[in-house]
Amino acid sequence: MYFVDLKNSEMEEFTMKEQPMKGQCLCGGIAFSAQEMPGKVVNCHCSRCRVSHGADYATQAFAVRSSLVFERGEALLKEYQSTGGIRTFCSHCGSRLMNYAPNNGDYLSIATACLDENYTRKAVSHCYTGSKAVWHEPSVAIPSHDELPSDLF
Ligand SMILES: [Zn+2]
Ligand SMILES: [Zn+2]
Repeated sequence: MYFVDLKNSEMEEFTMKEQPMKGQCLCGGIAFSAQEMPGKVVNCHCSRCRVSHGADYATQAFAVRSSLVFERGEALLKEYQSTGGIRTFCSHCGSRLMNYAPNNGDYLSIATACLDENYTRKAVSHCYTGSKAVWHEPSVAIPSHDELPSDLF
């Protein structure tokens, strides 16, 4: 997963009209909420997401970074910086939570696996299938892109 810079005008379309997404880690030590960017949900098949999530791919929902609020446990959040941005996880239970750019970019991506059960959006596309796991065949119900689809942002 990589991050790109967005113009202010592009961010303004993601207004605070909807309920924020809420999530927490496995141990419950960290709980947070953030305003989603509707329609920006992808299955990322890149090797970094696969290894860090311990899964064949990671479903990530994009959210407005300035809207991120920790209800509890921010001190438990650990960051790991590698190619493509900063990946975070709970230092107690290891749950993967969110990714963001090191330069305070406008948005972040949240692992949908840690969201509360009332989250209902589905991934709109597969990205980075050019580096997907050889043993995994992505569903054909949504489009696949070798990298990040250019029309996502
Ligand atoms: Zn990825
Ligand atoms: Zn935890």
